[in-house]
Amino acid sequence: MHILDWTSLSPAEQRTALARPAQRDAPGTAREAQVIIDDVRRRGDAALLELTQRFDDATVTELRVTEAEFAAATAALTRSQHAAIETAIATVHAFHAAQAPRPVRVETAPGVICERISVPVRAVGLYVPAGSAPLPSTAIMLAVPAAIAACPVRILCTAPRRDGTADPAVLVAARLAGIERVFKVGGAQAIAAMAYGTASIPKCDKLFGPGNAWVTAAKLLVAHDPAGAAADLPAGVSEVMIIGDESARADFVAADLLAQAEHSPEAHALLVTTSAALAHQVIDAVERQIKPLSRHAILGKSVGNIRLIIVESLKIAFALANEYAPEHLLLQIGEPRRWLDQVSAAGAVFLGSWSPESVGDYCSGPNHTLPTYGFAKAYSGLSLEDFQKRITVQELSPAGLHGLGPTAQVLAGLEGLDAHAAAVTIRLAALGRDDPPNAGEPPSASASRNAVAALARPEIVSLKPYSHAAWQPTLTRLHANEAPWRPTGDTTEAGLNRYPEPQPETLVKRLAQLYAVPAASVLVTHGSDEAIDLLSRVFLRAGRDAILQCGPTFGMYQVAARIQGAEVIEVPLDRARSWSLDPDRLLAAWHPDVKLVYLCSPNNPTGNSLDAEAIATVCRALDGKAIVVIDEAYIEWSRAPSLTPWLTRYGTLAILRTLSKAHALAGARVGALLAHPDLIALARRIIPPYSLAQPTIEAASRALAADEAWSARMRRGLLDERDYLERRLAASPLVDKVWPSDANFLMIDCRDAARFMRVSMAGGLIVRDLRGYAALPGSLRISVGTRAQNDALLNALELP
Ligand code: PLP
Repeated sequence: MHILDWTSLSPAEQRTALARPAQRDAPGTAREAQVIIDDVRRRGDAALLELTQRFDDATVTELRVTEAEFAAATAALTRSQHAAIETAIATVHAFHAAQAPRPVRVETAPGVICERISVPVRAVGLYVPAGSAPLPSTAIMLAVPAAIAACPVRILCTAPRRDGTADPAVLVAARLAGIERVFKVGGAQAIAAMAYGTASIPKCDKLFGPGNAWVTAAKLLVAHDPAGAAADLPAGVSEVMIIGDESARADFVAADLLAQAEHSPEAHALLVTTSAALAHQVIDAVERQIKPLSRHAILGKSVGNIRLIIVESLKIAFALANEYAPEHLLLQIGEPRRWLDQVSAAGAVFLGSWSPESVGDYCSGPNHTLPTYGFAKAYSGLSLEDFQKRITVQELSPAGLHGLGPTAQVLAGLEGLDAHAAAVTIRLAALGRDDPPNAGEPPSASASRNAVAALARPEIVSLKPYSHAAWQPTLTRLHANEAPWRPTGDTTEAGLNRYPEPQPETLVKRLAQLYAVPAASVLVTHGSDEAIDLLSRVFLRAGRDAILQCGPTFGMYQVAARIQGAEVIEVPLDRARSWSLDPDRLLAAWHPDVKLVYLCSPNNPTGNSLDAEAIATVCRALDGKAIVVIDEAYIEWSRAPSLTPWLTRYGTLAILRTLSKAHALAGARVGALLAHPDLIALARRIIPPYSLAQPTIEAASRALAADEAWSARMRRGLLDERDYLERRLAASPLVDKVWPSDANFLMIDCRDAARFMRVSMAGGLIVRDLRGYAALPGSLRISVGTRAQNDALLNALELP
């Protein structure tokens, strides 16, 4: 263990300080590995049995682990050992299953559909070392993603113990993680057997797993042979770098260094610290902690590799880390997450004192197979994608070839490849003769009468809707199984015993007038939430369709889509440009299975209105291809006008309005879906028969008949309050930023949002915590209240 002062080292000494222990004689090891590979290729299973006898000192007659051996292994483990293996499999499964790639489908030019699909690697061979310690955790880390990827052939090799059996924990982990066939063979001979196949071991396409110098050499050799098998990633001796400041606990740091050092005599463990005191305390702690540990022979050597480097600043510490590119990087510093963007080369990062590498080695979820020896500069640790291949697919329609073919001809000319050009020319010529360029293309969807129906779920288009009791207010109703008396003696409850008018005609007309659209374009809903739900149910097929939304945004879009079993694609709003919409980015993310595109303007929770030109670009590009839903819940407070006039321009546009906000009727639950009459007709097929309650209809009708001047005055008053609150909040030391708002709320960024919440709560007020949005780590949303309510908040914050 040495303490080194970085600034006092010469450049050569600095290089030595970061140098890994020298690798074993690589060419010599490769020669020995090649001899073993050749022997296995020549003699197959016989060579494997003999080499196992020689290298593992074990007599094995049957390479494949039998069912009896699996049963004995299961019986050999305690209940808590079984439970630990099962827990680790569950966490690793959860993290890897979440990595499933999304299929890519992009129309790169009109009529040119390009896709990327993922397929599993056909046969994978997993290698689990059993030399100095059996590693059931490695069996889990390799077998779980292989099972999620559904690789059809999944086998595992591990060296036998002296008595000829395999380690029971490795066998149990392998079985529980979905491996059927395990073979008792290790070292370079196992790699050779999986790469080329023998009578008992099937040939694999790709090999995974760490191993000793001969295993690594053999993996490199077979990976270079087209008849061999690909290898996962360059693996070597395990290593850790800890960056610690004065807040780090010396006993934790020492324990983490020793955990690394016990792997092997060459294991490398470094502490880079801004605190000389910490370095000295760590040395004392290592000396104390090493005594009771069991792997003395290894630790005796590897502890000598531990280096403690003192640097002047954390910035220098991170520069060192990126230069060294450690397999494991532990950040035991104050506010480690704030430094995460300084990390550019590491296999895995562990944030804070409570995140020991050991938990990552076993059971937190991410893969522990990571690049070592500086390879983390360019390689990543294992993930689900390593067990899959990505295949691109392209399909051109005649019009697509007509449009893009000439570009290919010109580029082929530049490269002097005439046969390439000819393959296009011959088709363009045929197209000119037989097929007009537009043949095979659907006519512009907005021009088609059935644009909306073409996007809707076919079963909704063909659904015979529920037929409710006819609305005949002048006749005595004996056709709806209602009670003929009022619920109580209270006369204000008159009419509540009757089912309400399904789409109340007067209210529909009043809303049509308010929003300046035809009545056939209005569906009155139980709040805009119901409109969102209806759109999901009309357009989204489970497991096939998707929505696009621009986050951070209103949460119901994705909830409704997920309930429907559809996928959610999020294109981020540009924070650096005040949360603006990038239409090109959105359109690049669109594909034909995206049926609903949500644009919330003004957006909840960021408060800004989206640029009308950007929205127009999206509407133009997607007209007839997707329903573009503009949610205008807060439009009454926006400087931008409502886009309802655009309903005549775009056939597949839908606009959401609500009486919840500017009309002060959130409790009544009334909103409106405004869209092409075809879309309204489809939504009417599935809306529950009497979704608007009678008191709701009456409250909405009363509010809309009330003095418009009064409500306009109230709305203006709220805008004044918003300005007041914005100004005062900006002065609070608890608030870093108040985002400009076009709505009846303000979004703020706080360094300590939890404190802001606590202080408001103590004053009897609650604001909305937005920290659940990944893009809003310190943000809160505050609805503008009355002057008294706003002052109560400002007082709670102790603002003068
Ligand atoms: N859309 C947005 C953007 C919202 O913020 C909300 C509610 O906060 C709604 C829709 C739901 O409104 P309603 O009350 O009409 O269901």
